[in-house]
Amino acid sequence: MNSTDITVLSSQKEAKETFREMISETVDAILETIVDDNAFSGIDPYTLRKEIEALPLLPEAGDSWQNVFSSLKATILPNLLRTWSPCYMPHLHSPALIESIAAELIIAAFNQSMDSWDQGPAATELEVKIINELCTLFGYSDGDGTFTSGGSQSNISALVALRDKYLLEKGWDVKKHGLPDDWRKFRIYTSSISHFSFDKGSHMAGLGYDAVVKLPVDGKMRIDIKEAERIISDDYNAGLKPFLIVATIGTTDFGSIDQVDELRRIADEYGAYLHADAAYGSGAILSSYSSRLGNLSLADSITVDFHKMFLLPISCSALLVKDKSTLETFQLHADYLNREEDEEEGYINLVGKSMQTTRRFDALKVYISFRMRGRRGMKLIMDKVIENAEYFYSRVSSDSAFIAPCPPSLSSVVFASNKGDETNKAIRKALMKEGIIIGQTVLGDKVMLKFTLLNPQLTHGHLDQILWRIKELAETLQ
Ligand SMILES: *Cc1c(COP(=O)(O)O)cnc(C)c1O
Repeated sequence: MNSTDITVLSSQKEAKETFREMISETVDAILETIVDDNAFSGIDPYTLRKEIEALPLLPEAGDSWQNVFSSLKATILPNLLRTWSPCYMPHLHSPALIESIAAELIIAAFNQSMDSWDQGPAATELEVKIINELCTLFGYSDGDGTFTSGGSQSNISALVALRDKYLLEKGWDVKKHGLPDDWRKFRIYTSSISHFSFDKGSHMAGLGYDAVVKLPVDGKMRIDIKEAERIISDDYNAGLKPFLIVATIGTTDFGSIDQVDELRRIADEYGAYLHADAAYGSGAILSSYSSRLGNLSLADSITVDFHKMFLLPISCSALLVKDKSTLETFQLHADYLNREEDEEEGYINLVGKSMQTTRRFDALKVYISFRMRGRRGMKLIMDKVIENAEYFYSRVSSDSAFIAPCPPSLSSVVFASNKGDETNKAIRKALMKEGIIIGQTVLGDKVMLKFTLLNPQLTHGHLDQILWRIKELAETLQ
C-alpha cells in the first residue's frame, strides 16, 4: 500500500487485499514478540522514553506500512506489557480470551456505534438482548442497563442516576433545576477501602468529596456493620440526607466483599438507595463460589466489569439497574439522532441510557465468549483463579517469613515479608527488573505486596517459584 492511497474497507479487491495483508502481518508480529514467559522487557523508563522521543509522528510525506511496522516491531511491541504472562499480577488487569481478541477485530472493522439504531442495527439488538440476560443472571426480573467504558463510568452513572431518582421522588427534578438548596446535606456511604470513583463521581455530581462518608472496615476488610449503623443513624438524626450506600463486591486491593443484605437493611431504614460495585467480584457469579457475593439482586444497581475477572479486552463494562426508570436521567432527544418518532416505530436508540454518545460495540465480546465457553468453561476460569489465591494464601500464611492478614474472598492476596517496608518496596522493584510484576499497597501504615491473580493459566508451580524468589530477595535486600 502506498501512503497516497485513501484506503478504507470497501468491496474493491485492492482494499480487501490491503486489509488481509495488514491484519495477517500484524498477527505474525504479535506472535513473534512472545518469546518467553516474562511480563515485561525490563527496559528502564529513561531509555524507553528516548527511543520513543526519536520516533517521527506526522512527517510531511507518509512513511510506508513496512517502515512504520518495522519501527513498531523494534521499539513498541517488545516493550508492551504482556498481560498473558504468568509473571504479571499487580492489578485487576487481565489477559484477554483469544476469541475476544477476534471480536475486537470485528468491532474495529465494522466500527458500529451504539447511540442509535441506524449506526448499529444488529449491534443494538444484541446489546439489548445481552443486557436482559445479564439482568437475569444477577437476579433482576425487570431490570435494564447499559454497557459503559469501565467500572468508574458505571459507578459514576449509578451515583448520578440514583441521586436524581431519590430527589425526583421527593419532588425535585435535578435534571431541570440542578441541585436543591440543601445539597450540602446529601451523603453517600462507602467502605474506607472502596474505589475512588465514588469521590470522583461525587465531585462531578456537584456534591464534592465532603459528601462521601468512608465507613470503617472489620477484620475481614468488609464494612463494619455496627459502625455503619451508628454513623448513618447519627448523620440522619443530625439532619443529613443519606441517599446512597455502596456495597463493594470485591475491593480493589483485597477482594473483600461487603455484606449486601445487611447494607440493604440499613439503606431501607434511612430511605437510601443501595449500589453494588461488583467491578471486581462480578465474575465470581459464574464460579462455584458465587454465594460469597451475597444476593446482589438486593442492590438497586450493579457495576459489572468484563475487563477484570471475565478476561475480556479493555474496555468492557456494564451498569445494571433494578428499576428500568433509573436510567431515564440520561434521556434527551436530539433532532438529528434519536427522534421520538423513531422509537414509536420500534427503532431503539440506546443513547438515552448512557452518559456517552458514540459508544463501542463491546457487547459483542460478551456474546462470543459467553457462548463459546458456556457456563462450564467460565466456571473453570473463575474457579481456577480463586483456587490459586487460596493456595497462595495457604503458602504465605503458614510461612513465618511473611505476614498475610486477610484470607482471600476472590483472587487477590495481600501479604508482606516480615523484613519491613523498605525490603518490601525493594522486592517489588527488583522483581520488575526481572520481568515479574507484582502489586504493592498499604495496610494501616505498612507497605504490603499484592498478588492479583486473574490469569487462569497460572499454576501452583509458578506461584511457588515466585514466592521462592521473593524469599531469596527478602534475605539479600535487607
Ligand atoms: C477496577 C475497579 C473499579 C474501576 O473500574 P474501571 O473499569 O477501572 O474504571 C471500580 N470499583 C472497583 C471495586 C474496582 O476494582
